[in-house]
Amino acid sequence: FKTAVTNKATAALKPNKEKDQHPPPPPPNVTEPPSTDRREGAVYQVGKLLGKGGFAICYEGKLAGSSKRYALKIVKSKMPLKMEQKFQTELQIHSKMRQQNIVQFHRAFTFEESTYLVLELCPNGSLMDMVKARKGLTEPEVRFYTVQIAGAIKYMHSKGIIHRDLKMGNIFLDKHMNAKIGDFGLAALLVTGRDWQTIRRTTLCGTPNYIAPEILEKGKRGHDHMVDIWSLGIIMFAMLTTKPPFQSKTTDEIYRRAKERDYEWPSPETSKRYISREAKDLVASMLTDAELRPDPDQIVQDNFFLCGYMPVASDINSKLRDCAPQ
Ligand code: ADP
Repeated sequence: FKTAVTNKATAALKPNKEKDQHPPPPPPNVTEPPSTDRREGAVYQVGKLLGKGGFAICYEGKLAGSSKRYALKIVKSKMPLKMEQKFQTELQIHSKMRQQNIVQFHRAFTFEESTYLVLELCPNGSLMDMVKARKGLTEPEVRFYTVQIAGAIKYMHSKGIIHRDLKMGNIFLDKHMNAKIGDFGLAALLVTGRDWQTIRRTTLCGTPNYIAPEILEKGKRGHDHMVDIWSLGIIMFAMLTTKPPFQSKTTDEIYRRAKERDYEWPSPETSKRYISREAKDLVASMLTDAELRPDPDQIVQDNFFLCGYMPVASDINSKLRDCAPQ
């Protein structure tokens, strides 16, 4: 009886304990303090809300006195330790990335108890929003985005960075509908002798649908960066069919199905979109054991890119733009 009472008491306390970790909305004008490379400081005029994440809120921001627009990603300056660590990783890794399919990091500063990241603006939502709105993409569109994402993965891996949280909701669309990888909160710097259990623990906080089976199995090492190729396989499947391949009611079921590679393509009778043998083979190769997965160079040379046409950026821009949120 005593325990029951105690539990009840803790339950009553819980909402208070887990209070909103998001920062308050920013004022209409946000001031960047002077710094060595910007002695006068700067002012951003805050525009519309772009979205809310686990602990960040994101607003559009226009640099006063210019026509430049950015995404302002805002977090509380004081955060619980775990979030603080996630955010520090994000800051350190993201600020070192410079590639056309990675959201450009411009600067970071603190203003009124909040930390602001000034990022490249992606005004057309995420790949997930677009794939849902379009009920799946055509094969030429999937070719276009797969090449862009593979290029970004090649770049990150060449810098020793594993993203570890690639998913459609973390891939944003710029004003021309190009894919831009964002959110480096779970990324890891690949260093030899790194504590794999730490990676495992932290990665398990991510989205189960996109997690490679070797992260779940203890002791498998040596092909760490290949977890991003697994995620690209899941993204490709989801772009073609609208759903990740192992989608299930419970996380355990997702993991079981991923380990057994238990997935099915929609049957041609029920699905309105054509999915080629080449597309299916490429996805299957990315969902094999880590040491057998193709690297980004092998991916873009795959038959899937030779068996049909590859749209140019202006095709994508004119066809897909209408699906983006207004
Ligand atoms: P968290 O790290 O807390 O998960 P996210 O990075 O996912 O936060 O950002 C939260 C939301 O803000 C995203 O879902 C998206 O809607 C929006 N967002 C983030 N970065 C950008 C960007 N560069 N351009 C436009 N919107 C963005």
